[in-house]
Amino acid sequence: MTNLYECGRCGVVSEASNHLCQPLEVAGREGYCGILAPRDICDSMQESLTFECASCGRPAENKELLCDPHKIR
Ligand SMILES: [Zn+2]
Ligand SMILES: [Zn+2]
Repeated sequence: MTNLYECGRCGVVSEASNHLCQPLEVAGREGYCGILAPRDICDSMQESLTFECASCGRPAENKELLCDPHKIR
């Protein structure tokens, strides 16, 4: 099973903790999807964000990490 991480500052989710400015380990999608993330995305993350959850607005690098992913770039 893959570890998942959420940025403690901007709420971005990723499978790579080194991509996040303040990584926090999360148990799985149930642990964050559906919970609104802050809208201030850390600068270091802006470039690599490709998906956003259509139901809760949470941004992610990878569509598997979201309950209802849609492509934002
Ligand atoms: Zn961040
Ligand atoms: Zn969601």
